[in-house]
Amino acid sequence: MDLVGIYLREAFEGEGCPICRILQRFEEGEIGTILYEHVNDPAVRERFKASLGLCPYHAWRLFEIASSNPLYGGLGVAIIYEHMLRTYLKSFNEATGEGRCHLCSLVEEKERLIVTAIAERMDELLPVYRNSRAVLCKRHYELLLGELEKRNPAFVDQLKETRRKKLENLRNLLERFIENSDYRSERGPSVEESRAIRFSIEALKGLPLGINITNFDAKAKGRKRGIRLGWKV
Ligand SMILES: [Zn+2]
Ligand SMILES: [Zn+2]
Repeated sequence: MDLVGIYLREAFEGEGCPICRILQRFEEGEIGTILYEHVNDPAVRERFKASLGLCPYHAWRLFEIASSNPLYGGLGVAIIYEHMLRTYLKSFNEATGEGRCHLCSLVEEKERLIVTAIAERMDELLPVYRNSRAVLCKRHYELLLGELEKRNPAFVDQLKETRRKKLENLRNLLERFIENSDYRSERGPSVEESRAIRFSIEALKGLPLGINITNFDAKAKGRKRGIRLGWKV
């Protein structure tokens, strides 16, 4: 296996969605690089300006990461947002739209590359995935399935079957968690059953990343309307 393959294999050996987890590390790394090296980089600052300081999700991630690491502190964030406020105040009386978030674009690009790299190495990664506790989230399963249909269709059915089994296993664990939470249960829920709660959320919704949150909002508008009509609100 090549270097990219080894890196992907490690992700598939782990727990939860391997792609979300790679992207979470990537996102944190990019935020760290911005805070550590690029606070005064004019090119990066221009990209911040286009969105008036990132999307809400990434603006708060930047703040959280800066606040939780003494290496960064608040200075970098202060410099960036002083500039953003200055930019905003300059056109205070004009209606200004907000462009694409720089970090959302970076993560989406990385996501595309990873999904393609996985689809190309499915013969080596599928057996690892089948035998590990990893469960692709719905978004990443669907993206990977789309890529496999184009590049490696022989694996489509195997990936579907693997996902179905993994989700059934999670459902069984949740069922047992519920049963064993009953006061008449002798042993109470096991660690594995308790952990299945968070992995079930991850399997359907992915990790709280910009790609999962921002995209959901865009699609949710139509869905919300549907629900309202259905409930006759
Ligand atoms: Zn995912
Ligand atoms: Zn963003």
